[in-house]
Amino acid sequence: VVDITALQRWLRTFAASVAEQRDHLTALDAAIGDADHGANMHRGMTAVVDALATASSDDPAALLKQTGMTLVKSVGGASGPLYGTLFLRMAPATGGATTLDAETFAKALRAGLEGVVARGKAELGDKTMVDALAPALDALDAALGGGESLAAGLRAASAAADEGRDATIPLVARKGRASYLGERSAGHQDPGATSAALLVAAAADAVA
Ligand code: ADP
Ligand code: MG
Ligand code: MG
Repeated sequence: VVDITALQRWLRTFAASVAEQRDHLTALDAAIGDADHGANMHRGMTAVVDALATASSDDPAALLKQTGMTLVKSVGGASGPLYGTLFLRMAPATGGATTLDAETFAKALRAGLEGVVARGKAELGDKTMVDALAPALDALDAALGGGESLAAGLRAASAAADEGRDATIPLVARKGRASYLGERSAGHQDPGATSAALLVAAAADAVA
């Protein structure tokens, strides 16, 4: 099960990988965007981790909501509202439970992805974070449906997210700044799909 401690571990692990990969994320964004994705995500996740210390949020829904609001407030650009929406939409999908079983956690993640899609209007193959998140959540659902544990499901999800991230390389961007480049966006890995794969990997490390 996923409790508040596991969620905090997920956020701290994601923040640590973003800090470690900051320059890489920025280099990817320099190629097809405005070279701020590493800085954006690092600023946002630093604020999220800082907020954990002072948090009044002692249940999963409150923590997820606080995380989403912190990201919306602290991150400029496309990724802040989108990652913010992911966490904000996860919150009510927990049903207010103190501990989330595997199915509830998967459903909350699915609600988060639906929020990202509703807000950003990206479809699979548009070369965005959705290209890592959607296959990851499909793999998680398939694993849980096949009777596997949450740990195994999240490992499968992380592998699928990495594949989805890599599959963005040949794509032409149809959403966000990279879409301004048209065909010239092909041949580059999407920064947001790269950070999204880190988010799923962090879940596999921390939540399972
Ligand atoms: P900005 O493009 O405003 O500088 P970032 O560089 O932080 O913001 O984030 C860029 C990433 O956001 C892209 O690599 C892409 O994955 C994601 N993104 C942009 N627009 C959308 C959208 N409409 N839907 C989903 N993801 C998007
Ligand atoms: Mg950018
Ligand atoms: Mg920007």
